[in-house]
Amino acid sequence: MDLTYSDTEQAFRAEARGWLEANVPTGLASGDTAEGFAQHLEWEKLLHEARWAVVSWPEAYGGRDASIWEWLIFEEEYYRAGAPMRVTQNGIFLLAPTLFEFGTPEQQDRVLPRMAAAEDLWCQGWSEPGAGSDLAATKSRAVRDEEAGGWRLTGQKTWTTRGAFCTHMFGLFRTDPESERHRGLSYFMVPLDIDGVTVRGFDRLDGDEGFAEVFLEDAFVPDDAVIGDVDAGWKVAMATTGSERGLTLRSPGRFLSAAERLIELAAERGEAATPLLRDRVARAWIDAEAYQLFTLEQVTAISEGTQTGARSSLNKIFWSELDVRLQETALDLLGPAAELEGPWSRGFLFALAGPIYAGTNEIQRNIVAERLLGLPRK
Ligand SMILES: Cc1cc2nc3c(=O)[nH]c(=O)nc-3n(C[C@H](O)[C@H](O)[C@H](O)COP(=O)(O)OP(=O)(O)OC[C@H]3O[C@@H](n4cnc5c(N)ncnc54)[C@H](O)[C@@H]3O)c2cc1C
Repeated sequence: MDLTYSDTEQAFRAEARGWLEANVPTGLASGDTAEGFAQHLEWEKLLHEARWAVVSWPEAYGGRDASIWEWLIFEEEYYRAGAPMRVTQNGIFLLAPTLFEFGTPEQQDRVLPRMAAAEDLWCQGWSEPGAGSDLAATKSRAVRDEEAGGWRLTGQKTWTTRGAFCTHMFGLFRTDPESERHRGLSYFMVPLDIDGVTVRGFDRLDGDEGFAEVFLEDAFVPDDAVIGDVDAGWKVAMATTGSERGLTLRSPGRFLSAAERLIELAAERGEAATPLLRDRVARAWIDAEAYQLFTLEQVTAISEGTQTGARSSLNKIFWSELDVRLQETALDLLGPAAELEGPWSRGFLFALAGPIYAGTNEIQRNIVAERLLGLPRK
């Protein structure tokens, strides 16, 4: 593994840093509120105009054809600059890699440029009231409409992040009524403004209106709404989970910059930063660096053609648990004042969700045990 950056990569970093320093907005409301979401969209449009929204995508779709290494550099600079959370992330980081792998050229041409420009905003419709950890228990169904050339969708999705503000959803539906478990599911793209779709937003624990339930009743989508083969959606969905648990959703830049801010906080807190707390600060920094190195090793393997597969579960356990420890340390440094402090206490509340979303850490440990360590199923 070569950890030195080429001249081109360093020039890319300098350009990204210069642009971000000049353009990153401050003081936006949370992207999980209606007001904040609208403010974040303005930022997304600006990123897109300057071709920073999707750096690793082809130029024809609004990107820069950047390598995976340059993408990592961009992410590092993005978080270093304190730039806003990406409200487009479920589209750009989850659906797009899946479309690049399984979508037809027509689907890619139709969906990706509008996604990059934040014209279509995507949410993830996987969880259902009876199918969370056990995604293969999906009950929402799609019934073939031969005459109209498409599918009629019926069911209920829940915990749909930013669903109330998005225009489109991707999700799994059972296309073979006789099928069980992983078989007979298909992966659909669904506009949320069509007849038969009702979106009901609801609040999260932290008060933001970030969640929605999506109800579908005989909602019609054409054949080209299916990604990959009909009845073979599980395989496509597993590509999306690889992105969600692994690299793309949570790149190391996010935690490196949080660890730097934690170090600054410890310095500001003076004597309140006891030796025990300083140890925890050091641990947070070491963890963030370790995640960075682990990621670089993984990126090396990916650029040599290795699939990430079940190893993305290792990433997920590592980044979610390191985030909780890091945020907890910040609150302990702040002491009782933590409750009055905005960003760290919000960061802590959100970090608590990390071991749950993208598949709980118990499930990730099952995957690691069975698929990486070869331990027997219980
Ligand atoms: C902030 C946040 C955002 C989310 N955003 C989305 C979204 O955009 N789209 C979407 O579709 N979903 C989303 N989710 C839902 C998330 O994917 C589910 O919450 C998660 O998969 C767990 O499912 P569940 O809530 O139904 O819990 P359950 O599956 O009911 O699990 C309950 C508990 O039992 C444990 N458990 C279950 N089965 C096993 C097992 N076999 N072995 C060991 N332990 C087990 C779990 O680990 C968990 O602790 C989001 C969740 C959160 C917290």
